[in-house]
Amino acid sequence: MRPFFDRRNELSCQDDILLWGCRVIIPPEGRKEIIQELHEAHPGISRMKSLARSYVWWPNMDKELEGCVLNCDHCQQVRDKPPEAPMHPWEWPSRPWSRLHIDFAGPFMNKMFMIVVDAHSKWLEVCVMKTITSENTITKLQQIFSTHGIPDTIVSDNGPSFTSREFKQFLQRNGIKQINSAPYHPASNGLAEKAVQTFKQAMKKMKSGTIQEKINNFLFRYRITPHTTTGASPAELLMKRKLKSKLDLVFPNMEEKVVNKQKIQKHYKDKTAKERDFDLESKVYAKNFSSGDKWLPGYITEKSGPLSYRIRLSDDNIIRRHVDHLRPRQTADPVITPDFEIETSTPSEIKPLEETTQPETTEPRYPKRQKREPAYLKDYVR
Ligand SMILES: [Zn+2]
Repeated sequence: MRPFFDRRNELSCQDDILLWGCRVIIPPEGRKEIIQELHEAHPGISRMKSLARSYVWWPNMDKELEGCVLNCDHCQQVRDKPPEAPMHPWEWPSRPWSRLHIDFAGPFMNKMFMIVVDAHSKWLEVCVMKTITSENTITKLQQIFSTHGIPDTIVSDNGPSFTSREFKQFLQRNGIKQINSAPYHPASNGLAEKAVQTFKQAMKKMKSGTIQEKINNFLFRYRITPHTTTGASPAELLMKRKLKSKLDLVFPNMEEKVVNKQKIQKHYKDKTAKERDFDLESKVYAKNFSSGDKWLPGYITEKSGPLSYRIRLSDDNIIRRHVDHLRPRQTADPVITPDFEIETSTPSEIKPLEETTQPETTEPRYPKRQKREPAYLKDYVR
């Protein structure tokens, strides 16, 4: 209990789910599954921990996560950390999608890839390229810009695809400033190069799936995981919102609850606005479509549909009526007693709901029963 006691002022319970701050406390039987989910795409220990810290907590969580990575063959085979990218002289842009770093990776898995990183959010785009011509590069960039808009600056190396006249014209037409990293100083595009390494490592670790499936899997994980330098996930910095992932399913679903509650409230409000809602056991007159009195006294036994009710009449017959054929009955009728042993209707007598005014003459008849008030209602004044 010690780890819980230490956090006693930060523990809360929401919707039957125990939280530490805004992290869900996972009970022992659920931890294995959460670890598996966090380990999806083999993000490596530090990224796995930082992803976990955005969602969940339990005592010794970090140790268990470390154990998981140590016991994973895929993770161990590519254990070596990518070398830290040397410090580059770039300033951190104050807004997202202002400066993009681009580079090619490959040939790798028999493919070429274009990698685009946003310097502010660290958002990553990876495109599979048939060939790395300027034309293909432009097409892929246009595709990316159609989602995120045009950046102010693009940083690349001096590869022919980036230095061609065609490419320079494309950037000019879109008002994008181009910075080519100095020859023999490839480190100044370190951001893109680091992204290439991260991408390659992740792809190597994933053993199943097509290349595109692996890319999708890696990108989604990468984008929702808080980045070590910014402390926030690329998605949050670029899109100003957290992307929903399977891990979000651990949180209590307050939104659904609130929406449902509002729906119910609205439903009842609409009803009362029209004064057409009857409580169970309330006394009513039901329209009679057969011979005899036009209105039959009875009381509501069941709401059988959005606008229909079952009514027990004084002769114990149960009929069903649309609200339009019911009106409240004020006078006390000693013959009819709300009987708290009302039997629930058997399926045989449930008819398809129809809001017509068809007379219901074939209502099944209940055997006469002795009416007896429950003892706990002996003080009940009618
Ligand atoms: Zn692994």
